[in-house]
Amino acid sequence: MKHNFHTHTYRCMHADGTDEAYVRAAIESGFTRIGFSDHCPWPYKDFVSGMRMPVSEFPGYVQSVRSLQEKYRGKIEILLGLECEYFPQYLPWMQEQVRAYGLDYLILGHHFSPTEPGGIYNGNLTTPELLEPYREAVLAGMESGMFAYLAHPDLFMRGYPVFDAHCEKLSREIVEKAMQTGTPLEYNILGMFHGKRDGKPGYPHPAFWRIAGEYGAKTIIGIDAHTPDAYRDTELFDESEAFLRALGLEIIDDIAL
Ligand SMILES: [Zn+2]
Ligand SMILES: [Zn+2]
Repeated sequence: MKHNFHTHTYRCMHADGTDEAYVRAAIESGFTRIGFSDHCPWPYKDFVSGMRMPVSEFPGYVQSVRSLQEKYRGKIEILLGLECEYFPQYLPWMQEQVRAYGLDYLILGHHFSPTEPGGIYNGNLTTPELLEPYREAVLAGMESGMFAYLAHPDLFMRGYPVFDAHCEKLSREIVEKAMQTGTPLEYNILGMFHGKRDGKPGYPHPAFWRIAGEYGAKTIIGIDAHTPDAYRDTELFDESEAFLRALGLEIIDDIAL
């Protein structure tokens, strides 16, 4: 049984393929349950994001996923979600969208600190001071109970020079909060793909996952598909499963809706 709840669409402007192409690739690779979790269309004022759909495309996204659910019923189960940062100022808006569109789930993928306009990408954090806002948001996000899981918890290692004592402390805090709140942590296949391509660990970072292993944290593998082909690269999926098992992590393949 293969599941994946981390799938983007062309609407975020850095993903390719039709929505249906993702579904077909998933079926071909033997997935039985998938979720679309495109980047949340935050209602920014006076700022246009280059990495997420505008609010105006949100209804079309919902409609497209709902119609694929119908079309492929019996072949694959398709869920409708979003990948969201923890931006407390937009929580009321977020809750309204969840109700209005009947979203099945949200995943917490915290990409910018403190927010996107004028903020910094959390894959480019290079000093201990810059880790602090990431830490605060991720811990508060897990505490909120709104999210099915925490995507790429170790994203900060994409840009941080070495896994030092600050990273160790941050990792322990994230894993402890995940244990306390029952939040699964995502082992991110897209990061793994980039790490192999570029020949550097980045994220997922082995030191983070060794710590998660010490606690026996609940882990979920997320493809973070930005192309339909990402669903066909099942070798990475199998490799990550073996790696996580060897560390003593509890691998789960479903989310609470
Ligand atoms: Zn993305
Ligand atoms: Zn993503």
